[in-house]
Amino acid sequence: MTRMLIIGPPGSGKGTQAARITESLGIVAISTGDIFRHNVKNGTPLGVEAKKYIDNGDFVPDSVTNSMVEDRLGQEDVAHGFLLDGYPRTRGQVDALDAMLSTLGTELDVVLQLTADDAELVKRLLGRAEIEGRADDTEDVIKHRLGLYAKETQPLVDIYQKRGLLVQVDGLGEISEVTARILAALDAVKK
Ligand code: ADP
Repeated sequence: MTRMLIIGPPGSGKGTQAARITESLGIVAISTGDIFRHNVKNGTPLGVEAKKYIDNGDFVPDSVTNSMVEDRLGQEDVAHGFLLDGYPRTRGQVDALDAMLSTLGTELDVVLQLTADDAELVKRLLGRAEIEGRADDTEDVIKHRLGLYAKETQPLVDIYQKRGLLVQVDGLGEISEVTARILAALDAVKK
């Protein structure tokens, strides 16, 4: 059983890799971005609230995000392991997650950081915008999201490194190549 996080800038391929890793490991993928987008699509109160932030490339407030994740981690399927994708993104979310896991009597096994340089990220996100038409994939909003990542989320990597949980993987290359790299790195940690 594995309980893990995947951390990386917008466009690093977190979501794509999360789907592949969780399938391979037989654990549940929990993407806060996907849960928000699902709620936006269905016009739920959570979606209406979250949309104001998402479209501008801002973080949804911690209070909203934390309680959503707490609900999700309380569900039964998570007991066999999970991969959180896109959470935590702030120091406050790290603290909230620590508290949630301690209440559940469990802890993280590994934190996977997916790296990629900014030029490649912007290129990928603009490419995705043409295909998926996400409102937050315009050039200005992309730059804002990358800036927020650098300021708020990148520093979280140090916290997990100090805890001895960090595994870094280069996110550049073919999708399946990156998946193979990740699975090999996770395998090496287990031993
Ligand atoms: P990306 O990694 O490309 O930014 P995501 O799907 O992970 O894409 O997130 C999309 C948007 O959803 C974010 O820009 C933010 O507005 C919101 N979001 C997702 N996760 C969080 C989080 N943990 N805290 C606050 N906002 C979040």
